Amino acid sequence: MPPLEAPTIPAVPAGKTVPLLDASKTEKLSAHIWMIPGYPNIPIIVGKKAVLVVDTGLGNSAAHVISEEVERLAPGKPLYLTTTHFHPEHAAGFGGFPSGTKLLRPSVQENELNADRGRMLERFRIHNAEALSQADYGKPELFKDEKILDLGDVHARIFWAGPAHTYGDTLVYIPEDRALVTGDVVQNLATPTFLGGDIGPEEWLHTLQIFAPLKPKLVIPDHSPPGPGEKLISDEEAFMTALIIETRKAKKDDLSEDDSVEKVTTSLHAQFPDWIMNPLTKDGIRRVWKKKE
Ligand SMILES: [Zn+2]
Repeated sequence: MPPLEAPTIPAVPAGKTVPLLDASKTEKLSAHIWMIPGYPNIPIIVGKKAVLVVDTGLGNSAAHVISEEVERLAPGKPLYLTTTHFHPEHAAGFGGFPSGTKLLRPSVQENELNADRGRMLERFRIHNAEALSQADYGKPELFKDEKILDLGDVHARIFWAGPAHTYGDTLVYIPEDRALVTGDVVQNLATPTFLGGDIGPEEWLHTLQIFAPLKPKLVIPDHSPPGPGEKLISDEEAFMTALIIETRKAKKDDLSEDDSVEKVTTSLHAQFPDWIMNPLTKDGIRRVWKKKE
């Protein structure tokens, strides 16, 4: 795998500590779901019997903030934890959760974490040395494609649908609330971040098509605000489809790789004017261009 670029995260002003997660801003999103907004958003699914947290936050101190909030929302209940993917702000804070926290992760994500051999962690440490000084990914109970949790009056279906932002992207569907936690796989008004080895837009689109039939009412992304589920998924499909078709056409018209990137980026920007354009979206265009048809 080629070296991976870590996304830049909000700069912390020198001499000050900006909390990446602010539990005073926790919002209730649906009957059983709360979310601490931040970097990244942390969904908390509260049932009568048990609680599920999705993602650890960036390091153990972020995880402490989450643990305290869980204790406030659901005192004394057994705690399950899963991670949307292996990047440090989602998975490296296991040490900040109480002992007895049960960590669940699909094998494909765990294998990807092990294969990366700390490279992504090193990239994130450049800007977050302190937060990640005791990075702890935990020892998960592994599952293959799906794990269903009975939290009492609500269920959580934790599943792997295929490669997208990474190989091991993991989603969580809450059927009672018709809500889907998407990690980086579906964002709200933000273009996709291509990071996983050489996963291209075609594979990502295929993964979207696998879970789109769930037609969730609510989608909860990790780095953008929650929004209407069906719409966010179909917008993402439309974005990916436009990117693929226009890149193939540019190549057919004999445009160089760089010129194709420029042309398609401009066109996508015009079609999706409200979206934040992530610089790593260009890598998706390059991956389509490089592919032999
Ligand atoms: Zn990520």
